[in-house]
Amino acid sequence: MTNDATVASLGEFGLIDHCFKTLERTDVPGVGMGIGDDAAVFLVPRTQDLLATTDTLVEGVHFVRDADPRDLGWKAVAVNLSDIAAMGGEPRWYLLSITLPSSTPLAWVERLALGMNEAGARFRVTLAGGNTTRTDGPIVLTINMFGVVGHERSLLRAGAAAGNRLFVSGTIGDAALGLRHLLGVDETLRRMDPAAIRFLMERHLRPMPRTDLGLTLVDAAIARAVIDVSDGLLADAQHLCRSSGVGADIDLRRIPLSPPARQWLEGSEHDRWPLLLTGGEDYELLFAVAPGAADQLPAIAARLGVTLTEIGIVTDRKEVRLLDNGNPLSFAVPGFRHF
Ligand code: ADP
Ligand code: MG
Repeated sequence: MTNDATVASLGEFGLIDHCFKTLERTDVPGVGMGIGDDAAVFLVPRTQDLLATTDTLVEGVHFVRDADPRDLGWKAVAVNLSDIAAMGGEPRWYLLSITLPSSTPLAWVERLALGMNEAGARFRVTLAGGNTTRTDGPIVLTINMFGVVGHERSLLRAGAAAGNRLFVSGTIGDAALGLRHLLGVDETLRRMDPAAIRFLMERHLRPMPRTDLGLTLVDAAIARAVIDVSDGLLADAQHLCRSSGVGADIDLRRIPLSPPARQWLEGSEHDRWPLLLTGGEDYELLFAVAPGAADQLPAIAARLGVTLTEIGIVTDRKEVRLLDNGNPLSFAVPGFRHF
């Protein structure tokens, strides 16, 4: 195959064999039938529930054509894994629906598959089927991800109660800064040192789903409500609270920031906090625990090598408030929405 080969030169089934068959893994349990039949067969023991989620990436909306497809492949898998993690599930199988112009370089799809394969290997999930179609429009990628969780053990958004303590994993706002740097609109970022920028870009391009944390929260049975932070900390705190019929007071000063994000914030805090809190794509877990159970979290954090920070408390006020030294702040921007 020459370097300027396109997907049209392989044809639909050639493409599936060449690029996607290689994403099937033999070390993932529960595949009764993978790629090659009319439907995949997943074997789910009676003691487990099946989790299913889907996410779509659209060229021009979620990525630009000159983005590295390897990062895109990673991210397409990772964002779906994050949803499974937020339910406390063990991720297992995924389907890929891909819509491509015939002129798409084969090398583009190969690199996409490479990134998907990296995420598949890291989190031990296997491709088990999909759909391949041609378009004259933008590239569209949809992944359906499936996982398993003990029967009725799923971690839902509903379940938080007044007095629960609110925790978030990792750090907030890094991915938003990575994207901002990519867009080239920020002078402060442009002047930051290369290692800091690399870190922020990595957080934007290669999110790390909190799979182990989700599984641990199920095992320890300590989370009352869980959500992954994809739309921004504030928006997702609102989603969790709305589902639970409660509110929350979040302490601005406790929100965990990485050193680069903290450096970026310096000097213009008031103007800059909103981006960190509403930019989204953090793919951290936000969760509520009963007051007594919070004692177990430091040991869990140490074992998993993830920081878990208490950022506030669940209230019965039915609104999410952001407090700075006890004073409520207001931000107009709610978080990412498509419509
Ligand atoms: P059908 O016409 O029965 O829907 P297809 O001809 O579309 O089946 O697909 C043949 C096989 O290839 C199926 O097992 C399907 O799941 C798989 N497949 C098609 N596209 C992809 C893809 N992009 N990634 C993985 N598997 C795929
Ligand atoms: Mg069929």
